Amino acid sequence: MRFLKSNGGYILEHDGHLFSIRNTRDGRAYYQCRQKPCKASLVLTEIFDKDAPIPANALIRIGKAHDVHPPPITDISNLAFLEKVQNRIMLNPALKPRTAWDDEKLADPVTFASVTTTFDHSVSSLLKYQREF
Ligand SMILES: [Zn+2]
Repeated sequence: MRFLKSNGGYILEHDGHLFSIRNTRDGRAYYQCRQKPCKASLVLTEIFDKDAPIPANALIRIGKAHDVHPPPITDISNLAFLEKVQNRIMLNPALKPRTAWDDEKLADPVTFASVTTTFDHSVSSLLKYQREF
């Protein structure tokens, strides 16, 4: 299980699938599979700030199983790569998004090889991220 930063929020990766947060209530965060119309779900417990990184003591409960659908391998590669580009911008807000993209591509060509999104497609979210810092 890990969290991938995306547009200032977090997407949960669990067991090769991606989940978006749907709701939080009474210290529980409810997640649903991002693949429509799959209804697979997870619950994390002991979550009291849905926007904060998930604490190490968060417990996971598996809800409904996935429909028959392939794991979103390219989506995960794209998110992981964009997160690293975002981290570069966060560390150096003066960095141009294009430079951060190219630096990360050079730093991790293995991950980049499986990335299917393009800079032009991603630039608006990278610029949005830059404005937040
Ligand atoms: Zn699913």
